[in-house]
Amino acid sequence: MGRCMDTFAKNSGGRIAYAIIIPMVVVVLTSVFGIFSLMHWSARLSDESAEQSQHKLIAGALQLTQNYMVKQQTGVVIWDNAYHVVNDPSPDEDWIYNNMMHWLFQNNGFSKSILVSRDFEVKHIYAQDQTSNWMSQKLLQELDPAISKVRARYITSFQKTPSGLFAFTPKSTDTGRSIAGTGVVSISGEPYLFSAAAVMPQVQSVSPVRHPPAVLISMIPLKGEKLTNISEMTSLKGFISSRPLATQEGTGQFQLQSPRGHNIGVVAWQTNQPGSQMLRRINPFLAFAAFMIAGVVIAVTVFTRLMTKRLARSESNAVYAARHDALSGLPNRSRYHSLLVDTLEESFYKATNSAVVYIDLDHFKDINDTLGHSAGDKVIVAVAQRLRRVIPETGIVARISGDEFAMVIKNCESDEWLEYILDQVQDEISRPIMIGRRELYASLSMGVAIAPRDGNDPDELLRKADIALYDAKANGRSRRSFFEPTMEFQVQSKDRLTRELRLALKNDELDLAYQPQSDTDAKRIVSVEALARWTKEDGTVVTPAQFIPVAEESGLINDLGIWVLNKACAKAHDWPGVIVSVNVSPNQFKHPRFVEKVMGILAANNLPPQRLEIEVTESVFAGRNDSVLQSLRRLKNLGVKVALDDFGSGYSSLSYLRRFPFDTLKIDRDFVSDMNGNPEAEAILVSIIQLGKALGMTIVAEGIETEEQLRFLQANDCSRLQGYYISRPLDETALSAFLDNFHGLGTAGFGADLSYQGRSA
Ligand code: C2E
Ligand code: MG
Ligand code: MG
Repeated sequence: MGRCMDTFAKNSGGRIAYAIIIPMVVVVLTSVFGIFSLMHWSARLSDESAEQSQHKLIAGALQLTQNYMVKQQTGVVIWDNAYHVVNDPSPDEDWIYNNMMHWLFQNNGFSKSILVSRDFEVKHIYAQDQTSNWMSQKLLQELDPAISKVRARYITSFQKTPSGLFAFTPKSTDTGRSIAGTGVVSISGEPYLFSAAAVMPQVQSVSPVRHPPAVLISMIPLKGEKLTNISEMTSLKGFISSRPLATQEGTGQFQLQSPRGHNIGVVAWQTNQPGSQMLRRINPFLAFAAFMIAGVVIAVTVFTRLMTKRLARSESNAVYAARHDALSGLPNRSRYHSLLVDTLEESFYKATNSAVVYIDLDHFKDINDTLGHSAGDKVIVAVAQRLRRVIPETGIVARISGDEFAMVIKNCESDEWLEYILDQVQDEISRPIMIGRRELYASLSMGVAIAPRDGNDPDELLRKADIALYDAKANGRSRRSFFEPTMEFQVQSKDRLTRELRLALKNDELDLAYQPQSDTDAKRIVSVEALARWTKEDGTVVTPAQFIPVAEESGLINDLGIWVLNKACAKAHDWPGVIVSVNVSPNQFKHPRFVEKVMGILAANNLPPQRLEIEVTESVFAGRNDSVLQSLRRLKNLGVKVALDDFGSGYSSLSYLRRFPFDTLKIDRDFVSDMNGNPEAEAILVSIIQLGKALGMTIVAEGIETEEQLRFLQANDCSRLQGYYISRPLDETALSAFLDNFHGLGTAGFGADLSYQGRSA
């Protein structure tokens, strides 16, 4: 059971936990991932835009460097001497070498130079290291667009004068700038910055024809100092010039293209990546935050798991508690009902018989009241265990209420089989139950209804099993009854009788009869016993044996009892000196203000308490009787007489005499009727009278029907005599007449005659 509850808790806990944890983890992970991605994305964006501006910066720096190269060339290319030497049909090579090419190397570091003549021929080449193998057709081709551009620009610098001559008017000389173009070429796989400038005169000249210029191309490798310059200009670091690199994180690349548009290398640098830098800086914090979030998620997950497990366990406990009886651990009433519904459905479809058994623990209230509730609890637990032990596997046993249990047994083969099972149940229960060192004997009354014979509806079967249980209890307990349709009729008629009694009480249809009791000599009527009478409107007489139990069960006994007391006390004034005996049920004592009510009635009727006697039966001692005894004592102290009625009908009668000092002892009718010639019965009667006298009690013998009985009791000094032989119960008028005419029982049959003088009731 525990394991079953645990599994339930685990499953349900797991379900709840996952229902909370999974969405939570997904949300947290998504948010964290989202935030991280966003940060990386914005870092990347900022890196990209930074790289773009660095790209522009490098392009600008290269341009500046090239412009500066043009400027450095200016002194050599805008020079009359150079113009003349270069364009001379047989130029002075040394002069060109020394004053132009080598000079440019020495002063400005141009390590390679090429001089292309007006006719577009390579006239001179210069290399600082004296090499010439770098010069190639391919290089010239690459330089060609730049050279052609310079030549074109030079030609367009001529303006035709009105005389038809061309005047060379280089605008650039005004500003000290040459006609030049710049770019990058690859020499032996290495990028070189070059400046190609037209060699031109310093002053304006006029000529009849326009000659293209000689072009001096001065080159400097893009490495070392040049790269350092660019790095300084741009404030960027890590410059390298190389062939195209594989794209590398953290490195920017500026593509170098020859004038013909060929990729000849790259300027690569360490890019400034503000986004990545920012990321690198906050990465530890992000990692820490991620770590913390992960920690929190794990903690929350563990906590949620724990809490949900606990929640699920308490939920399953609550479900279990809602379905089971805490004391016995058996299913409770509501659980029983649902199990019964399932069982009946199953047996309906399988066409088998099921038995619904209602069980009542006999006299449990007595155990509870006399030995205390903890003993009562132990008995319940013991009975529950035993029921569980003997019930077949196909059966279910439940505790319905205090001392009520119920079973449902599936697949009942036959009534005999069921009888056998129920015998076993009864046998098991009848073994003594040890409460401390005390042995207790319990017994069960059982009511059985069988599906489908007695119906298929659970409530109907329960009702019928209950009716059968009532029958078993009414027939002496410790037994079982199978439901029979006639029982239903009895229950219905009992219900009807209850309704009618309630109405009768309301409509004052009840009456009282009074049965006189004489003194020992049968000379004087000393008391009368008030007995309730009910004749229905249609004339049907309902005997007290019929309606008193109904009144007890329905609780109407309280109203009825008060009515009897009231009426008897009111009438007592008609019969001065006569004690009025009134029967009081144990249930009436349960009323918390019973004594006050009796006192109120005595006061209202102005009747001295000594004129009232109340008769209680041994059943007042059943159960927790402290308060009953207390009430009796209070009444006795007030002066009301207390009689023990039907003495000897129960089995521990003698012990009751010790427990309360009764004023009167009424010997049960059965002893008197048994006595005729029976020496044992006579001996018992004599003993009771002697015992009662010894205890100082008034002894009343009831049910005296014959003269022999009367004589015997008189001979044994019985204090009061009651019975048909003296008088039957009479209505009030008849009693008044009887009292007026009664002068003692002298001869046999006299009393009997007298009793019929009035209207007997
Ligand atoms: P009980 O108190 O023992 O009353 C005596 C019963 O014996 C009465 O029956 C009475 O009619 C009957 N009886 C008297 N003398 C003889 C006789 O010589 N022979 C025979 N065979 N019977 C005799 P009743 O009136 O039918 O009452 C039966 C029981 O109903 C009473 O027994 C009493 O326990 C109960 N009862 C009657 N009236 C009341 C009442 O007002 N309140 C309560 N709580 N119980 C009442
Ligand atoms: Mg009585
Ligand atoms: Mg009696």
